[in-house]
Amino acid sequence: MRTLRKLFAAAICAAAAAPIAAQTGGAWFDTQVPPPANDPAKPVMKYDDGYAPVPTRFAHRPGRFDELLDGAALKKDHKAIVGFSLESLAAGDTVWGRRAATPSFMHTLEWTVSELKAAGLKDARVETFAVTAPMWVPTSWQVQVVGDPAFGAGTATVTLRSAFPQPGGATIPGGRLTAPVVFVGHGSDADLAGRDVSGKIAVVHVRPEPSLFGSAEQGVAQKLAGKGAVGVINAIEGPGNAFYFDTRFACGKAPCFIVGGQDGWFLQTVIGKASSAGVLDKLKISVALASEEKTGLTSGNAVATITGQSPKRIIVNAHADGYFQGGDDNASGLAVLVGLARYFAKQPQPKHTLMFVASGGHHGPGNGPTALVAAHPELKDNTLLVLNLEHVAYLDVVRGKTRAPNNTGMTWDTSVTESAKAVGVTNQSPFLFDVWSRAPRCFGVVTYQQPGTSVSGDLGGYRGVNAPMTQMIQSGTFYHSSGDVYEQVPAEGLERAARFHAYLIEQVDRAAESLITSGKDTPYTSALGDCGSAMPAVRSSQQ
Ligand SMILES: [Zn+2]
Ligand SMILES: [Zn+2]
Repeated sequence: MRTLRKLFAAAICAAAAAPIAAQTGGAWFDTQVPPPANDPAKPVMKYDDGYAPVPTRFAHRPGRFDELLDGAALKKDHKAIVGFSLESLAAGDTVWGRRAATPSFMHTLEWTVSELKAAGLKDARVETFAVTAPMWVPTSWQVQVVGDPAFGAGTATVTLRSAFPQPGGATIPGGRLTAPVVFVGHGSDADLAGRDVSGKIAVVHVRPEPSLFGSAEQGVAQKLAGKGAVGVINAIEGPGNAFYFDTRFACGKAPCFIVGGQDGWFLQTVIGKASSAGVLDKLKISVALASEEKTGLTSGNAVATITGQSPKRIIVNAHADGYFQGGDDNASGLAVLVGLARYFAKQPQPKHTLMFVASGGHHGPGNGPTALVAAHPELKDNTLLVLNLEHVAYLDVVRGKTRAPNNTGMTWDTSVTESAKAVGVTNQSPFLFDVWSRAPRCFGVVTYQQPGTSVSGDLGGYRGVNAPMTQMIQSGTFYHSSGDVYEQVPAEGLERAARFHAYLIEQVDRAAESLITSGKDTPYTSALGDCGSAMPAVRSSQQ
């Protein structure tokens, strides 16, 4: 046994001394180089060649104009809204989409105003506000894994074409930086134990659970920069090779990138193989980044009202800004907002004044709701409820049943249902929870079983109005990525969301105000009735 061990050790030494290329075979240790990034104008997933989304089964009520809430009508608006992002892509914007304070965003607001005016909301207008913070704009960038003969014959430098710079990174002096690589796992303190990242480019494995919004690796890049890493690559465990952009994966002024699933897989695979071959010290990443900051910008909110019998407001908000196509985040919410405004313009005068806000949101400089509340002191203590429409309908992307050959874990598949959404009611009003219980039961809206009080997203800026706030929201696999496309939002899901929210607004408007403002544990007896008596009849099949 001893002899065997000695022989084995000798064999390892001999192998280490042998010419490296002889051990490694083909280029990049026989690892297939990654494909180009996904075309951001097209979906990463397949949405049109399998089973259709769960259908809607709603009957129109005569004289109620609720055909305005049909999926096909909403999807037409959804296409128009996503179109403003594609305009930005065509214009050559680097961080493209409906980024707040950019021309494509302002065009989205102008379109919203013209649609609301056409619907009869005569006071529809864009309210602009000055943005004090600068907007960071990358002007050019590149991430390369540097080839070396030690990695196999014919190894050439590979460009990771899904690499997308994260907010705040400064122009690299001299334009380019090349440094050795260190892999840090998920970047937890346990992962970092004994690892020296100083002077290196750190690679972090990021798991969107289910999205970057919930990812445990938020803030890791910044931490690594603080420990002396000269750059960070966030390698996403995700489908395809998409672009991602999210402030929580930035490194301050250090260059910091996110790479998509296939680039991330390649990078981690060659790190592992280089380590096994004893040549990890030769593996280097080269990054280039140039950026600028734009100042003196103007952003805005689109605002319109339907005057009620009382000036007291029900505010219906949807942020109009977003990154990339922003199909779910938040073309979905804005399309539903426009549909609801058209619908309520045709209904009898409401008790309360309905205020529709397409906000300047939070993707880019400035905060739309904060600016709105500052410009409208009359909203404070004169608002019954703030309702937010955000990420209301995307087809869920789930781990499938087949192991992926070129990525981590199982392949991803697209579900026929929308992703389950978290319901939040800030004051825990039993009446509002009761209304929300009708979302799945009567309208087929998929939610979590347990509601909560959290209202993440665009509502933070509304705290100043001192009113209860409510919403449903979820952030999926493609949150803040180029995979959040027009096709991932089904007409059926938009219709479910729109019809439920119409019901919610009607119920809130009719109810005693004390039911909206009363908080947790207030004695409450439901008078809503079941689906049939309180909302449109449900028919058994589409006719
Ligand atoms: Zn977002
Ligand atoms: Zn959003």
